[in-house]
Amino acid sequence: MSIQVFGTPVSRGVAIGRAVLVASSRVDVAHYFVGADRIEPEIERLRNARNAVAAELAALKNELPPEAPHELAALLDVHLMLLHDESLIGATKAWISDRHYNAEWALSAQLEVLARQFDDMEDAYLRERKADVEQVVERLLRGLRLSAAGPAALGPAVAQAASDFGGEDPLVLVANDVAPADMLQFKRSIFTGFVTDVGGRTSHTAIVARSLDIPAVVGAREASRLIRQDDWVVIDGDAGVVIVDPSPIVLDEYRFRQRQSELERARLDRLRHTPAVTLDGQAVELLANIELPGDAAGALAAGAVGVGLFRSEFLFMNRGGSLPGEEEQFEAYRDAVVALQGLPVTIRTVDVGADKPLERSAPDHRYDHGLNPALGLRAIRWSLAEPSMFRQQLRAILRASAYGKVRILIPMVAHLSEVRMIFEALVRARQQLDDAGRAYSHVEVGAMVEVPAAALMIDRLLQHFDFVSVGTNDLIQYTLAIDRADEAVAHLYDPWHPAVLQLLHHTISRANARGRAVSVCGEMAGDAAFTEMLLAMGLRSFSMHPARIASIKQRVLRADTRLLSSHLTRVLEADHPGEALRLALQGGRAPQ
Ligand code: PEP
Ligand code: MG
Repeated sequence: MSIQVFGTPVSRGVAIGRAVLVASSRVDVAHYFVGADRIEPEIERLRNARNAVAAELAALKNELPPEAPHELAALLDVHLMLLHDESLIGATKAWISDRHYNAEWALSAQLEVLARQFDDMEDAYLRERKADVEQVVERLLRGLRLSAAGPAALGPAVAQAASDFGGEDPLVLVANDVAPADMLQFKRSIFTGFVTDVGGRTSHTAIVARSLDIPAVVGAREASRLIRQDDWVVIDGDAGVVIVDPSPIVLDEYRFRQRQSELERARLDRLRHTPAVTLDGQAVELLANIELPGDAAGALAAGAVGVGLFRSEFLFMNRGGSLPGEEEQFEAYRDAVVALQGLPVTIRTVDVGADKPLERSAPDHRYDHGLNPALGLRAIRWSLAEPSMFRQQLRAILRASAYGKVRILIPMVAHLSEVRMIFEALVRARQQLDDAGRAYSHVEVGAMVEVPAAALMIDRLLQHFDFVSVGTNDLIQYTLAIDRADEAVAHLYDPWHPAVLQLLHHTISRANARGRAVSVCGEMAGDAAFTEMLLAMGLRSFSMHPARIASIKQRVLRADTRLLSSHLTRVLEADHPGEALRLALQGGRAPQ
């Protein structure tokens, strides 16, 4: 029977495919297809891992000291028995031979099936045996990891293997949660849609999902419990609905919508290289947000006239405790700068903390940074607490400026004491480069306005910084006291809230009055519902996921800023500004 699960839409469009359930702690397991000629070797790899784990367990048992509790030996026996159980190994082989899954994926798929069977058992003792199966699978995965290139090689492996094996149904990923850094590994992957139980619209997991430009729903609470491995699933990324086991009529309807959005996409594609100018001749700069240097070429191809936000923290994540050195960072920044061919690249200094931890640490990776991580040591606070790391990053960014136009952006500035320390660090970083005879050019320095304090003291900040960029994702979070990653309060996360709009308007108009560049790089910039509002406030620079540029450009091309500005006061004073703007525009849109 068909069921529906509701969540928060984060990335538009419709995806239809079979569910691949992935436990949060296993999202780094490689997922790729193996061609027909690789099936036997893949089963052999599984067999070898099983034999190695069996030998390991037998040795453990032999080495148990005589005084060890006898439950320990019994437990090892249970694990050995599970290792040879057909329901684990036999069924895993079937996933490999029938579905062409690689061994790690086949094993986690089968674990999900078994876990569900255990969860449904009446007997509490038997139910608890699920933990034993999980432990055995963990050992097997470790064994397999030793005999494979590992998840680091996942990107190209996925693309290559998927194209070798064309007969498979489309797949959608279903997980309780996926850490932002793990989400990145799904770039160029086989999944055509995502569903997660947790997360809000501007959680970083959602942001990365959106950058993949495939339909996604987050905060769907029970999804990973209600959806079973291999179920047919429709993800409606516009409405935030997931339909499990859809009826043929529903499927037809969604297939139709899928084709419509493909046509719409192709139509928008034609705008890629059209300059973004409003009907009344106002030029608007549409920039790209990127996570990795490899995204830069795609940004250019999508028609971006520069990078407005390079989230450098993704270079710092999941590195097992080590941080990228100056050379590695320099190469990454330089690659992005070279790819942009003279267009500006705005590199944000590392913004870790809150829902972007440096390390994934299951089960709940979001809360391992202090008591209240969103209010804790994140972003520039962390950088200033690690001065040599910060100077190292500044040196790497400055060096990249020898290859093109670079701007530095500082996240979460809130205190003037931070401003002083930032500029001192820059002076020292430049001095160190001079001493080492390294080349660098002039680099503008900007502040992100993403806490209300920064918006309220924008005039003071503008005395120090060359430009500002409004991070609306955090500005909304901190103005309304709503954790942006928490689905329980997602309904209160309201970008149209009059207080948010006032802070935005104040920031944009003060920057314009002082002749300083101002941009918006939060998700609002790529949401067409806000384009007219932001234009009315005087914004002329928007930074967003490359995939959103064409839609926003279409909005800009149809806008008349004189008309929009005439509605601004009324809209800002309304109790429901979104509604007020819609009514105003209906009453008097400029001729098209
Ligand atoms: C923001 O807060 O709006 C922003 C662009 O930064 P991030 O989403 O990375 O916190
Ligand atoms: Mg932010």
